Amino acid sequence: MTRDDLDVDPDELYGRLKAYEGRTAASGGAGRDPVNEPMIRHWCEAMGDTNPAYPAVAPPTMLQAWTMGGLAGHPGGPGGSARSEAYDELLALLDDAGCTSVVATDCEQEYLRPLRPGDLVTFDAVIESVSPRKTTKLGTGYFVTTRMNVRAGDRGGGGDRDGNGGGELVGTHRFRILKYAPARPKKAAKPEPTRKPEPAADRPRRPRPVINRDNAGFWEGVARHQLLIQRCLDCATPRFPWLPGCGACGSQRWEAFEASGAGTVFSYVVMHHPPFPAFDPPYAVALVELAEGVRMVSDITGVPYDKVRIGMPVELEFLRVDEELELPVFRGAQA
Ligand code: ZN
Repeated sequence: MTRDDLDVDPDELYGRLKAYEGRTAASGGAGRDPVNEPMIRHWCEAMGDTNPAYPAVAPPTMLQAWTMGGLAGHPGGPGGSARSEAYDELLALLDDAGCTSVVATDCEQEYLRPLRPGDLVTFDAVIESVSPRKTTKLGTGYFVTTRMNVRAGDRGGGGDRDGNGGGELVGTHRFRILKYAPARPKKAAKPEPTRKPEPAADRPRRPRPVINRDNAGFWEGVARHQLLIQRCLDCATPRFPWLPGCGACGSQRWEAFEASGAGTVFSYVVMHHPPFPAFDPPYAVALVELAEGVRMVSDITGVPYDKVRIGMPVELEFLRVDEELELPVFRGAQA
């Protein structure tokens, strides 16, 4: 491969990519449901948005919600949104050039008029721009920006001069991805990739905690093998993680006290993907509820990842991770 890990002439490729600017990325999209009060209420509840203007109008940031096809996506054919051949070709061109990975980088919305219950939403998308070749920490590739045009009318249909959707333009949703060739690891790949890696000396260390003035007391406790929780001196509410003020009453007066070390698994996830170099998947990450009532995220030791269960009693212990790092973790009691 040539410089930048891409084995194509950059100018020639960029010229071919630029030719897709302005072409259709998707067409004929239609919202599954008209803009409606129940969806607005659920959104506001999830966001904690109590603005009294809703649900008479929809929050502007719901723009994309009205275009979504649900977990199964939009069905093909009439009424569904079809990704265009041009967009597929553009992505295939990038794949062929070695830019096989993709990451969404940002989105930008513009609101032209509020959506109201009863509005029928239609949408289409255009390939707005393809950036020159960029090298990022992830790798070398191209930013592709598509712009979704969201329209609304009380009947949908109609259609504009380009045959796209119908109704009045109410907002735009720009969505940017980076299609890239992943940066090579600095070191040569290990010859036997299927074997589970040993915890070798050269493997990345677990992330370090960020210790600051607000939580230094907690880490001083860990160094003494004490799990310290804060308690508000005004309303006696315990809190964790360490914070300068009380979430219940706002008081900044507090004391620290030592947790008994008893707890139960309140919830957990098993991490399979994405892999982090310092950890060997699969592993369980638990939210432990301490006897004192606060919860903390922790490793569960002593129990295989697939035997961790909600409600499992756990007991505090201190895990020596490496010469610098010691962590409070919880040992599970096997049933
Ligand atoms: Zn308080």
